[in-house]
Amino acid sequence: MKTIGIIGGMSWESSVLYYKTINELVKERLGGLHSAKVVLSSVDFAEIERLQHQGDWTLLGKMLAEEAKRLELAQVDFILIATNTMHKVANVIQDAVKVPLLHIADATGKKLKEHKHQKVGFIGTRYSMEDDFYTKRLEAFYELEVITPPKADRDEIHRIIYEELCLGKILPESRKIYVDIVNRLQASGANAVIEGCTEITLLLQQEHVSVPLFDTTYIHAESAVNKALESI
Ligand code: GLU
Repeated sequence: MKTIGIIGGMSWESSVLYYKTINELVKERLGGLHSAKVVLSSVDFAEIERLQHQGDWTLLGKMLAEEAKRLELAQVDFILIATNTMHKVANVIQDAVKVPLLHIADATGKKLKEHKHQKVGFIGTRYSMEDDFYTKRLEAFYELEVITPPKADRDEIHRIIYEELCLGKILPESRKIYVDIVNRLQASGANAVIEGCTEITLLLQQEHVSVPLFDTTYIHAESAVNKALESI
């Protein structure tokens, strides 16, 4: 079994989900007392959020590249960045190490293609929805047409992520806001919706909406397990 390196803590609420899902899937596939080989490097999210807010992506790239180097020294076989947003600096991180990075948009794009979806809605932080590092990758490599909500909805999604979900607050009134936004994306022609932020699955699950949801936390964790068990 390969060793999975995780750059986590962004936020730790979703890193917990990664750790749990990865171990559950390894147990499911190998049985008995099997569990995953994982090295987690977890950052202080307050520092990360402050720099995101200031738009200092250069420093953020350098900081996460240092985390990746630390994981490489710990001899992991590949690395996950356990957040969609910080894939904005995925190239800088990958360039700092020899071990491969398992890009969350690739795992997600492959899964959507497997399900033959073409027009998909995307919800996540403002950085992921408004910059094109994520959606362009889905469009260019996975032939998807990606639609995002209008500005007022994007602002609400973003606010709820940072003010509630990353702090572990799960509020029914916020779920209602997300449900309405996802339903509007469906009405605009989306035949699937990507939960493009690793905390969204804490708030919104498939039972709440009729359009198929693609949970990037689960998809990314599952792709890591597939890779870790590849040669077994
Ligand atoms: N975990 C979130 C994501 O998947 C947002 C937190 C962050 O800014 O990294 O985008």
